[in-house]
Amino acid sequence: MSGAEGIVFVADSHYDTAKENLRRKNMKKRFEPAFTLIETLLVLLVLAVIAASVTLGVTQAINDSKGRECAVNLATIEGAKDEFARDNPGVALTSVDQLKPYLRYGLPTCPAGGTYDHILDFNQRCTCSLGTDSKPGYHSLAQP
Ligand SMILES: [Zn+2]
Repeated sequence: MSGAEGIVFVADSHYDTAKENLRRKNMKKRFEPAFTLIETLLVLLVLAVIAASVTLGVTQAINDSKGRECAVNLATIEGAKDEFARDNPGVALTSVDQLKPYLRYGLPTCPAGGTYDHILDFNQRCTCSLGTDSKPGYHSLAQP
């Protein structure tokens, strides 16, 4: 009787060992990462490069549009000065209010935060404090 019990015990032990091995194999499979650390880091690096280039492009485009808007503002002010001079020959510009009838949306301001000079000067073109010497109003442009 005790020998038969021993056989049963051995069989159970084999069964338990096989079950344990299967459980360990499944555990190993379950926690095996889908990507290695190097693969994950490479993907993150590529995404970082893409994000940096997109951010750089958008920032440059925003700066370009501000420079162009500033140039349009300067041309608008020059047009108002020309119209004032045509309507009032010989009259000097002493106040920005004299230009108000010729500026539908009021005196424009630089979108990049610059200030405009020579607004009331007929002899000099209006310039932006942020503009370059060669191209007043054109500041932070990618292409000249
Ligand atoms: Zn400006």
